[in-house]
Amino acid sequence: MQATLYIVATPIGNLADISERAIEILKQVDLIAAEDTRHSKTLLERFTIKTKISAYHEHNEEKVTSQLIQQLLDGQSIALISDAGTPLINDPGYKLVVAAHDNNIQVVPIPGPSAIITALSACGLPISKFIYEGYLPAKSEARKTRLRELKNESRTLVFYEAPHRIVESIKIMQEIFGAERRVTVARELTKKFEQIIRDNLSVINEKIESGEIKVKGEFVVVVEGTKETSITDQEALRINHILSEKLSPKDAAGLAAKITGRKKNEIYQLALKKDL
Ligand code: SAM
Repeated sequence: MQATLYIVATPIGNLADISERAIEILKQVDLIAAEDTRHSKTLLERFTIKTKISAYHEHNEEKVTSQLIQQLLDGQSIALISDAGTPLINDPGYKLVVAAHDNNIQVVPIPGPSAIITALSACGLPISKFIYEGYLPAKSEARKTRLRELKNESRTLVFYEAPHRIVESIKIMQEIFGAERRVTVARELTKKFEQIIRDNLSVINEKIESGEIKVKGEFVVVVEGTKETSITDQEALRINHILSEKLSPKDAAGLAAKITGRKKNEIYQLALKKDL
């Protein structure tokens, strides 16, 4: 086997979802670098994979990257796995893949499950264009700010969410995106208690409150993009800018709001931002 870094996707809940190719590679490589060696033992034992395993996680990423690169340069092959799904998707591995490219080491992906694509495939919302947002910020105010920035996005939005934050996040989404915006909550994908429920935000909130959607396990939240306006922030800002050449800031913002269907205050906020 040529010195290669394999990025191997593993199941997100159902061990039977691993691919034949993933098993083969995990058996053949010289070393498996795993986010959590204890966690991955269940998977490796199930498929009688006896390859040497070492830890590669966010706390030792810097140090271990250079060790792994040295091993690769010495001709060894290494497979990177994370606790679940595709490495690097909200999981460690970015620094290692960058360093491998920098050192002309071949990087080979072994595709397989990822919660994003699994949720999208079954969400029942438009998915020809989508944005992956990962986790929203932990603090409420920062979460609101990010959601406000996404309010006028027309592409479908995909979020990862933790069970202790899902209640608040769905409430804030209703407050910012409106009660009618459609959303799919995908919980415990591929596992015994899998739930995939699509409805508008107010009904989803009720279903969480009534306990029909349990606040337990792992979540992907898919939110439909806005249908209200196809005008982007940049276009709204440009309209406001052109109007400001002839009108007072107040009148320009008022007219820009009418033209774009935005709130006057939103136009002010956009005008204050310099990085659009
Ligand atoms: N690398 C993984 C992937 O490819 O999906 C994601 C790792 S990230 C640290 C873990 C998050 O992914 C969870 O908090 C949850 O939002 C989502 N997730 C992972 N497995 C899931 C599942 N079986 N059902 C729903 N969401 C899941």
